[in-house]
Amino acid sequence: MSPSVLVTGAAGFIGAHVAAALCDAGFDVVGCDRAGGEGLLARLRHDRVTHFLVGRHVPFEVVDLSEPGEVEALFARHRFDRVVHLAAQAGVRQSAEMPQAFVRSNLVAFGHLLEACRHARVEHLVYASSSSVYGAREATPFREDDRADAPTSLYAATKRANELMAHSYAHLFELPCTALRFFTVYGPWGRPDMAYFDFAQRIRRGEPITVYGRGELRRDFTYVDDIVEGVRRVAALPCAAPGGAAPHLVLNIGNHEPVEVSVFVRLLEQALGRAAIVRYAPVHKGDVPITCADVTRLRALTGFAPRTPLADGLERFARWLEAWDPLAAEAASPSSPPG
Ligand code: NAD
Repeated sequence: MSPSVLVTGAAGFIGAHVAAALCDAGFDVVGCDRAGGEGLLARLRHDRVTHFLVGRHVPFEVVDLSEPGEVEALFARHRFDRVVHLAAQAGVRQSAEMPQAFVRSNLVAFGHLLEACRHARVEHLVYASSSSVYGAREATPFREDDRADAPTSLYAATKRANELMAHSYAHLFELPCTALRFFTVYGPWGRPDMAYFDFAQRIRRGEPITVYGRGELRRDFTYVDDIVEGVRRVAALPCAAPGGAAPHLVLNIGNHEPVEVSVFVRLLEQALGRAAIVRYAPVHKGDVPITCADVTRLRALTGFAPRTPLADGLERFARWLEAWDPLAAEAASPSSPPG
């Protein structure tokens, strides 16, 4: 019998891709998400579910994980061998504007999910963490054992808190858990609140884009298919524990090749075939100067590391954006709430 897996955040950018990939790999997948949102975001979530899940007959349940009764009911309706938890309130800047939403979706919801996994005796909980937990360090690459106790945003703090919460469940209840620290993920069906998507829409409309600093911030941009491949391989592992310790593991998944935002903008211009009008603004206090993943541990455990060159990934993103409803892109509101 195929292992059953719950993918949370399945109407989201990474979750929709992952749910489809796990289904294609033979898992018996159930997707859940709070869904909703407004404008372009609502449209994208709806279209992702249609594109990635409906055609594959992957059941999709509307569940708010911050409501304990809804999580209990979900686990009562289904038996899950594994859980891939990708639902969250994402975004460094937005966490300063709407902190309560981050506390609810990233801390309260995570607590409910851990309880459900514990009582259902789930074999492996794989969940999304973030490169932001490393804080504003300059020394690269970032290794999983580096200190991660000085977050520069509430978002980063919630992600680090998830790792500590999961560790306690691994220790106390032998719930095998793996945290995946994703590094700036981009690609088709992406998040309109992220810079690459916002830049692309503005460049296409001939509107100015806002670059923080002078474009010198460096990011380890990781193509979504590489993230999906990493998640798929980790989700297939029987248990995350390397020998004896609490079965909790932390893994980076990043392209391990940081690129300056100014270079990124040039590549995006090439992919879109249009020049950007660039305005500069001061760097936000929550922004970190550089991110760069050390992927030695990921490679050793799964035999895989991300490998898509940024120019190729942006080309694929640009083709998708052009093919996807451009009218919806026109309707995008800069104040859309983040996913
Ligand atoms: P996304 O916003 O597209 O997807 C997250 C989904 O979670 C959304 O569809 C949202 O509706 C859902 N959600 C939020 N709160 C919920 C709740 N209380 N109950 C049920 N569903 C809820 O984000 P994404 O880019 O796909 O990110 C997936 C995961 O990866 C998140 O945990 C995010 O923090 C993490 N991550 C993403 C990136 C990136 O660059 N995209 C980088 C690092 C970490």
